[in-house]
Amino acid sequence: MAAKRKLHEPGNSSKNNVGPLAKKGHWSLGLKASMDDPELRVDRDEMVVIIKDKYPKARFHFLILPHESIPNLKALSRDHLPLLKHIEKRGVELAEKSSKALKFRFGYHAVPSMSHVHMHVISQDFDSPCLKTKKHWNSFTTDYFLDSKDVIEQIEQSGKVAVDQSNAGQLLKNPLVKDFCQSTLHWCSVQPHVSQLFEQHLVSQEHFDFSV
Ligand code: AMP
Repeated sequence: MAAKRKLHEPGNSSKNNVGPLAKKGHWSLGLKASMDDPELRVDRDEMVVIIKDKYPKARFHFLILPHESIPNLKALSRDHLPLLKHIEKRGVELAEKSSKALKFRFGYHAVPSMSHVHMHVISQDFDSPCLKTKKHWNSFTTDYFLDSKDVIEQIEQSGKVAVDQSNAGQLLKNPLVKDFCQSTLHWCSVQPHVSQLFEQHLVSQEHFDFSV
C-alpha cells in the first residue's frame, strides 16, 4: 500500500529539527504561546508552567516548561539541575493527581520538534485519537524517549546531555515492536482499532494514517 500521511500537527516532518527553523512566528515556537493560553495552562509556579499537550498521545499528556528560555537539551548544564529536579517533582505530583490507576513516564524527546525545553508527563495507556503514526508510537516507546531521571543523572555525571541525533532519527523509523501489549498497559484492550492497524503495519512496514 502506498505511504499515506497527513500533517495533523506541527513537527510531523523529520526534517523539522528545532534550530534554524525557529523563526519568529514559526510553529516550532508554539509552546511559548500555549504557556499563556488559559485553555491549555494547568498550573504555574515560580520556575515552571504546566500545560496540556495540544495533541495528547494518551489519556493524560502534559508538558512542563521552565519560564527560563532554554532552546533544547544541548543547552542544559549542571546549573540547570535544580530546575530539572523541580520539573520532575512537579510531573510526579501531577501524575499522582491525574490517575492512581495508570502508569506514567516523565521525560524528553531526544530530538524534539518544538523549541523550548519541555518534559512530557504521559500516561502509558496511549489511548488517544491523536496517536496516529509509527513516529508517534516510537517516540514514546523507544530510547527516543529519555527518562527525566536519566537526563538528570547524565548531567550530574558529565555536565551535559549526549544525544546521538542520527540514531535518534533511526529509532523513529524502526518497525513497530511486536510485543507492545507487554510493554504497555492495556494497549490492546483500550485501542482495538489502533491495535488492528498496528498489525497491518507490521505486515506492510508502511506509514499508516490512523485517522482514516
Ligand atoms: P516534542 O517536541 O517532540 O517533545 O513534542 C512536542 C509536543 O508538543 C507534542 O506532543 C505535540 O503534541 C505538542 N504540541 C505541539 N504543538 C503544541 C502547542 N501549540 N501547544 C501545546 N502542545 C503542542
